[in-house]
This record gives sequence, structure tokens and C-alpha cells, in this order.
Amino acid sequence: MNQADSAIIATLLKNEGFSPAASEEEAGIIMLNTCAVRENAVERIANYLQHLKGMKRRNPGLLVGLAGCVPQYRREELFAEYPVLDFLAGPDTYRDLPALIAEAASGCRRVSRFDFNPSETYDGVEPSREGSISAFVPVMRGCNNRCAFCVVPFTRGRERSHPFGSILREVRSLAGSGFREITLLGQNVNSYHDPETGMDFSGLLDAVSREAPGMRIRFTTSHPKDISSSLVEAMASRPNICRHIHLPVQSGSSRMLQRMNRGHSIEAYREKIGMIRELIPGISLSTDLIAGFCGESGEDHQQTLELMHAVRFDSAFMFYYSPRPGTLAARTMQDDVPEEVKKRRLQEIIDLQNTISAGLFREAVGSVVEVLAESVSRRSEEQLMGRTGTNRVVVFDRGRHRPGDLLRVMITGATSATLSGRAEEDC
Ligand code: SAM
Ligand code: SF4
Repeated sequence: MNQADSAIIATLLKNEGFSPAASEEEAGIIMLNTCAVRENAVERIANYLQHLKGMKRRNPGLLVGLAGCVPQYRREELFAEYPVLDFLAGPDTYRDLPALIAEAASGCRRVSRFDFNPSETYDGVEPSREGSISAFVPVMRGCNNRCAFCVVPFTRGRERSHPFGSILREVRSLAGSGFREITLLGQNVNSYHDPETGMDFSGLLDAVSREAPGMRIRFTTSHPKDISSSLVEAMASRPNICRHIHLPVQSGSSRMLQRMNRGHSIEAYREKIGMIRELIPGISLSTDLIAGFCGESGEDHQQTLELMHAVRFDSAFMFYYSPRPGTLAARTMQDDVPEEVKKRRLQEIIDLQNTISAGLFREAVGSVVEVLAESVSRRSEEQLMGRTGTNRVVVFDRGRHRPGDLLRVMITGATSATLSGRAEEDC
């Protein structure tokens, strides 16, 4: 979401005549787009602001701003804590950034905008997407759920969906501009609802896949309680919708899910997984897991490990719980799992996931998979990295191939995070 928002901010600023600086030293404005979901993201911002303090001493004309969820959450108190800051903007106020920057540049230091705007979807602002073959297309903003641990509803406000017609126009334009892949984006894409046409997410997904039959279509994030058989059927019936669902479960214990206010049990989650795998055999599933939420016992933690063994997720984003002020958990529950226990449980989860991913990836050795080449590999100029439809990263020799090529790749090796192989005609 933040990457997509940064691309919207870039367009809004470019429209006002700003241009990207080649380096930090050359910049007249440095703005961080921030995430407040976990405490460690907030700590990283604090470290970077410390670094900017030094830069501002050398260049007093430099303007420093924070955008996104951290300022929305912490508001003006940030000015006192970080005197280096000149301006702050919440997630619904990016259209005001040029005005905020002008005010800050004219000498009014410490300017901010935080108003929630329930109709703001940045409709009509085409995100800046230079140098990529893959495009995020935000389809909704905000979240109406109230997971006990989560700050998002407080920082991004109520759900609102982008108009169906605008999404289709954007998809058409991307298809015509050489993009090869689209990811429909939202905190809970399954809640998509266009107030004008009544279109839901399965209808949107189907329409997008038909509008751009030559592109790969992905989406994230799906909430387990809202995933429907009609959505999975739409996926099954359209060949260009990728066979991958990111379905955050958070914990393997129904008791913890209830405390987390997730709105479903583990039995219901497993039923959904069964339905998905029956309708789309071979689909890959990934998840999010939190270790050490309030009241988590050793038995609850074991149930998370058991769930992982049973489902065999392809990959997972794994975190230990950090209380976020203002959330239901922070207000009403005790953060009673000691930090070393949280970290140990998280490590066990990570180790198990690595073992599971390595096993699944090893099983892929010897198969031929379809890979969309995305970019030059970070490790070597001579290699490209791409992804399978199931969202597995594949690295292979570049040869005469280029980002954007769709290739058949023979898998010859695997780690727990990456597959390696040879493009078929090079085999
Ligand atoms: N909307 C998505 C969903 O409900 O599945 C997830 C969005 S949330 C911004 C991304 C992930 O951050 C969550 O799935 C959760 O695992 C993690 N997360 C959120 N709040 C957290 C907290 N207080 N401590 C640790 N992890 C947290
Ligand atoms: Fe946060 Fe829950 Fe909304 Fe996801 S569904 S953004 S975890 S409140």
C-alpha cells in the first residue's frame, strides 16, 4: 500500500513541477512515506530522521516531511520529538502536499494536514510507475475491520472503493503501455464494493482479467472471513489470474483468533483452504503470522506450528506482536508474553516456514514453470529474476531475454526463498 501511495505522491508532485532528485544530497525536499503497523517500522523512521538532522545542518534550506500512517497516528507531537520535521501529511491529504510544501518553503515551519476524507480514493491520479513491468492498482482504501492488534483502521480510516469504471480505464491504459502484470491492491480486497454499479470483488477481478487478457492479474490482501467461493471460481475460470492467494491467518489457535477479533476460527480457515485447493489444485498460499499476541500460551503457539505443518504455506510474513497504542489490544489486554518468549516463538515459526518452503521448492526441481521476467537479478547483471504465477521467485541466466518476457524455465535448483533454472530454449 505504501509503495502504491508513494507512486501517487510522486505523480501529484510531478504535476506541480517537482522532479525526482538523483541523490539525497541534491534533494531540496526529503519526505518519508511511513508505516505504523509495527513498532520496528516506527523505530527505523526515527533513525532516518536522526540522519536527516545532520543533513539539514549542512543544508538549512532542506525541507523534511513525513507522510502516511505515522503522522496520522502520532500527529503534532512528532514536531516536538523531531525538530528536523517541517511538514506532516496523513494518508487522505496527499493532494494538499504541494500547498504544504509551499507553506513550509515560505517560512511557516511545522505545517500539517490530517483530515480523513471518506471519499478520497485519488481517483484520476495515475501513480508514477516508471521502469517497471508490473503495476499496483489500488482498488480500495481503509479498513472497516477491528482486529485487536491493528492500527490500520485508525490511520487509514473507513473503507472506500475506487469506481469500477476508473479501475477498468486504468487497466486498459496499463495494458496499452506495455505493462505485463497488475496487482489489485487493498487492505481487504474482498470487501470491494462499487456503490454505483454494486460490483463486488469477484466481479471486478473477472472484469479486469477480461479487460487485459494478455496480462497477469494478482491481488492482495484477502481477509479469510470474506473470501468467497465466487471469488475462487472467478480465479479458476480465468487463465490470466495468478494461482496464488495471500491469506493472513495470524495464529493457529481459535482462542487467539477470537482475542484478536479476526471474525473466524481455525476450523473455518481450514475449510476455506480446502475449498480453494479443491477448486484450484496446485494453487500456492502464503500468510501472515504473529507470535506472542496477548495471552498466547505455549499450547496456542504449538497450534500455530501445527497449522503451518498442515497447510504448508509457500511463504509467510512473520512478526512478533508489538502493541500499538489506541488499538483494542493495547487498551484492554495485557502484553503479557515476555519479549524473549515472543522472539523465541517467532524464530521457531521462521525456522519451520523455511523448512516447509525449502521442501516445497525442492519438489519443484525438474519441473518446467512459466516465469514472467521482472528485472535484472540483484546478485548478478548476467541473470534475470522473475516470478511464477504461484508467486515463486525464479533466477535464471539472462541470455537475450528481457524484463517483460514470459518464459518457460526448467527448474534446476532451490533454496528456501528462491528457485533457479534455465530458460527452456537455453536448456
Ligand atoms: N489487512 C490484512 C489482513 O487483515 O490480513 C493485513 C494488513 S496488516 C497492515 C499486515 C500484517 O501486519 C498483519 O497481517 C499482521 O500480521 C501484521 N501486524 C499488524 N499489526 C501488528 C502488530 N501490532 N504487531 C505485529 N504484527 C502486526
Ligand atoms: Fe488491520 Fe484487520 Fe483491517 Fe487487516 S483486516 S488492516 S489486520 S484491522
